[in-house]
Order: sequence, then C-alpha cells, then structure tokens
Amino acid sequence: MSAAPRRVLLDALFAAAVDAVELGWPVFLLGRSKRPLANCPECPKRGEPGAHDPQTCGHLTCHGFYAATCDGDRIEAMITAHPDGLLAVRAGAAPAGAGVVVIDIDPGHGGRHDPGLMTPTLAVATGNHGWHLYYRHPGRPVLSRPLPGAVGVDVKAEGGYVVLPPSVHPVTRRRYEWANRRGIEEMPPLLTATVLTPPAAAVPAVTRRRVAHGSTGSSAGTAAAGGGRIRHPDNLVGACLAAVRAAPEGRRRVTLYGAARGVARVILAGHLTPDTGVDLLTDAGRDADQTDRDIHAAITGGFAAEGLTEGLAHP
Ligand SMILES: [Zn+2]
Ligand SMILES: [Zn+2]
Repeated sequence: MSAAPRRVLLDALFAAAVDAVELGWPVFLLGRSKRPLANCPECPKRGEPGAHDPQTCGHLTCHGFYAATCDGDRIEAMITAHPDGLLAVRAGAAPAGAGVVVIDIDPGHGGRHDPGLMTPTLAVATGNHGWHLYYRHPGRPVLSRPLPGAVGVDVKAEGGYVVLPPSVHPVTRRRYEWANRRGIEEMPPLLTATVLTPPAAAVPAVTRRRVAHGSTGSSAGTAAAGGGRIRHPDNLVGACLAAVRAAPEGRRRVTLYGAARGVARVILAGHLTPDTGVDLLTDAGRDADQTDRDIHAAITGGFAAEGLTEGLAHP
C-alpha cells in the first residue's frame, strides 16, 4: 500500500475510534491477523509467576481486550504503534465493555440471520460477508460463546470483542462497514433467553433431536467431519483448553496439537466458528508460553488432521 492511502486509512481508523469513544465504547487494536497483539516481556500470562491483574496493567496494548480504553491519547498511540492493526470494541457490560451484546453471524460457517430471533438493530456488514448485530446489554452477565441452538453464530459479550469499521479483513481485504444507522435496540425476549441459557443446558438443537430419536449410536468416537455428535461441546472445548494451559514443559506442543484436533471436531460439528476456535487455542497457547509460530503450526496441523482446512487465516 502506498503512503497516501495508508494515511487515509489511518485517519479513518482514528476517526472511527473517536466516534466509538463518544459513545462510551472502549476500543483497542488487534494485530493485522485479527488476533490480539502479543504481551510484552514484562507482562507474564495468566497463571504464570508474577502475573498481574490485566485490567490494571496499564500497558498500551498488552492483555488483549483488557487494553480497551476510552482515552483518545492512548488510542492514538495504539494506532500509531500498530498502523496495520484492526480496530476492535470490547463487548459486554459497561464500563469495562461497551454495554452491548453482539450477535456475530458467519455465513461462511453456516450462520444465518434468523429474523424471528434477531430483530432489527444497529448492524455491521463484516469484511467476511457476515453480520454483527449490536444489542443493548441486558445487565446480567452474558457469556461469549456460540449462540445456543444455532450454527455459525457467536455471542460476543463478557470477555468478547468485535472488529469495528473501517477495519479491513485480513483475508478478504474487504472493509467492515456500518450496515444501517439504527440505534442499539434491546434484544427481543427469545434472544435474551437464548443468550442467558445456562451453559450446562446449552446442548445444541441438533444433539437434542438425535437423542430424542433414540439414535444415540454406539460409536462414541465418530465425531467426524460434518456428521459428528458432540454432547457437550462447551465442556469438550473447556477441557481441551485447560489441558493446554496445564501441560508441563516438553508436552506443550503435542498437547496443543491434541487440543486443536478436539476443537476442530467441535467446529466441524457446527458448535463453534473456526475463527473463535483459533482465538481460544491461541489464547491458551500463549498462556502456556508457546510462541505464535508454534501455536499456528499446532492449530493448522491439528485442524488438518481432522479434515478442517477452510477458513483459517494465516497470520
Ligand atoms: Zn506489557
Ligand atoms: Zn501487563
């Protein structure tokens, strides 16, 4: 990119950040690959000796979404330091988050806009042909996770974030754009109930149907491409990530590879988008002090071993 368009893009990014801050939205920057920037050497990861409270760290871009701020000077410094970055807003309850729940629809992985569930509100057309629907936060904690009962749709709330316009998607090179000028509406009651479904009860509809029809099957290990039945995807993903974080030195890479295979099966069964799976595995790998290069190799290898190769951004 030549100097002039880059300057224009930087100015547009900064203007968007100012707009967000005027709404009281804490924003931060993601790396050019759309993943959180790595911590600096002075910032140990969670669970390591000397780890500190990420919320009060104070470093400009360490600790991912914890760096989100409404301070214009800090945001300008972030954009100056990472001019290739993507602007992101921290979702979840205010003031740590923007006071929003974002429904993230990814058609590339089967996500569909369900008009009965997802009533009109402020929306972004993502750089990846999807949609971000912004709803007012209900005031009770909302988990960031796949939308229960849906495929290819994620909930971004507590501990979640979404990319803001006019950031450019790293793979498609398309800009994120505001799709309308609506206000941020309240979620309709059915959507509120869905996002507040307790995790233990969040067994996806496809699993419930199969159990109801008695076809529970005898082959517990058949969670293969597209046809897998995973009874508790949240538990499976949680166990995979916990194993990565707890792996002793010398077992870290192989553990991450195994976890990537488990997460790939959950993705292939439609319970998680690949982007989210990569994000979760990357966070866990970084927490276990693995390099981004090793993390990428383990995820790519583990996903490929399960037949999952599409939709993986190469950092
Ligand atoms: Zn730091
Ligand atoms: Zn820190």
